Amino acid sequence: MRRKIVAGNWKMNGSKDLAQTLVSDVRSQAASLDNGVEVVIIPPAIYVGDVVASAGDSLSVGVQNVGQWASGAYTGEVSADMAVDQGCLYALVGHSERRQLFGETDDAVAEKVDRIIGAGLHAVLCVGETLEEREAGKAEAVVASQVKAGLAKVAADDWQRVVVAYEPVWAIGTGKTATAQDAQTMHASIRGVLSEMGAPANEICLLYGGSVKADNAAALFAEPDIDGGLIGGASLIAEDFVSICRSVPAST
Ligand code: PEP
Repeated sequence: MRRKIVAGNWKMNGSKDLAQTLVSDVRSQAASLDNGVEVVIIPPAIYVGDVVASAGDSLSVGVQNVGQWASGAYTGEVSADMAVDQGCLYALVGHSERRQLFGETDDAVAEKVDRIIGAGLHAVLCVGETLEEREAGKAEAVVASQVKAGLAKVAADDWQRVVVAYEPVWAIGTGKTATAQDAQTMHASIRGVLSEMGAPANEICLLYGGSVKADNAAALFAEPDIDGGLIGGASLIAEDFVSICRSVPAST
């Protein structure tokens, strides 16, 4: 049975106050969830300690990025080991904002995945095509190449530490969502790529991200290869986020 996850990526939003109030609201509202979904909060790194303190045992916590090195003279970076030290279980890697705004390359993403898994975290590899790439009919090829490059260093017995989030770049923060059918087609294609790579593809959790809201989540999560979501904007409002978590069908 595959894990079902809904993860909230706060991006560079929030405050110490929000790290306490939002997390305790999500925690109390999520207590009634009975669908087996794992709820993950991914705040800015500086608030990870506050979020871990408010999260209790029912919510998991992650970081939005880690440095590609173990430690050393890398001003401003946070290592995967530091994330573990603070109580994180997950790390995002290769988010399109990091690729586009900070020049994160596929090689750097592969190094980070290696560090994340080596530290004992779960890596949430983000992949997705731009609008131009989709319109040129290259969406599946672009995503396949990001999956292959980003996961190139994963060892045979570490696949259980991998989650892939398909996030079409044109859908992130734009209010435009892939149709459930288009997202399902891409997820099935990603599963095919993982299988070609020798991964236990049917056991790997695949998330969809890109303007997921309380009113479109259920249709997306009803698709057979969509195992939950990576949520940006809607993860900053407890009711909306928990309603998205509630939209994951119970595992059978
Ligand atoms: C994201 O940043 O990963 C994301 C999916 O954002 P939004 O839900 O706001 O589109």
